[in-house]
Amino acid sequence: MNHTGHALVAPLRQPRPSSNGNGAGPGARGEAIENSLLAAVPRKEYRRLAAGLEAVSLTFGEVLYEPGEAIRHVYFPNKSLISLLTLADGHLALEVGLIGREGMVGIPLVLGHTVSSVRALVQGSGMAMRMGAARFRKEFRLSLPLQREVYRYTHSLMAQISQTAACNRFHVVETRLARWLLMTHDRVKSDEFRMTHEFLSHMLGVRRVGVTKAAHALQQRKLISYHRGDITVLDRAGLEAAACECYEVVKDMHERAHTRAPGETPPREGNGSAGLHRNDDGMNAGTNSPEVQGAGA
Ligand SMILES: [Zn+2]
Repeated sequence: MNHTGHALVAPLRQPRPSSNGNGAGPGARGEAIENSLLAAVPRKEYRRLAAGLEAVSLTFGEVLYEPGEAIRHVYFPNKSLISLLTLADGHLALEVGLIGREGMVGIPLVLGHTVSSVRALVQGSGMAMRMGAARFRKEFRLSLPLQREVYRYTHSLMAQISQTAACNRFHVVETRLARWLLMTHDRVKSDEFRMTHEFLSHMLGVRRVGVTKAAHALQQRKLISYHRGDITVLDRAGLEAAACECYEVVKDMHERAHTRAPGETPPREGNGSAGLHRNDDGMNAGTNSPEVQGAGA
């Protein structure tokens, strides 16, 4: 990879609080909590947490954290997608983790670190709930249910990061692209999203020509359509067959981590979400199409 990474060096902008952010957050009036980590916290605990949460709109290219810089907020994505990138030689960036509605950005805080080791970059525009770092650390100390959910997610994220390291080294671009598309598909809950070759080349750590060839191969097999950065998943099962095993390994790990032990009390009724399970509301292609925008878009 000989890219300069300029497309990933977006100006550091503060996410905009949403106009209706009143601090109460979703769930306060009984509406669904989109982030499944938050949705898994019992209602009573969530009410207290919600007072410290604000809805923010995240836009493609925003940098939430830089390596070596203090973490100011934690983020619980709703429809937004956050990429964790590790940097080499100061300018080469490679995706090591992908976080969407199943998780949280800001895990170092729960492990006692206030500084990020990675760049956290918004790769899919959308809403997220955020909380100031000091408030979050206080809430985390006070809430055992929150600790339980965050530790479970931390385990899943560690599994994802270590599997991604092996994947980047051992698996060919086509199977990695299929895996990345499945991970994105799971999180954005839409068959259509936007992603340019240039951005994908950074995500996969290969040159653009490699992405072009891999995308063309998947398109030839009628698994996706890809035109000027508009990706449509045409054959989900076929894409699963085309992906390397890393996709299933990480998904199984996540699901095992979130399977409740016998006798363990579920958080509450009616609002629980099963993390990456996508059988709750099916596919609504285009109806709430997230803006996963490419660098050149
Ligand atoms: Zn792999």
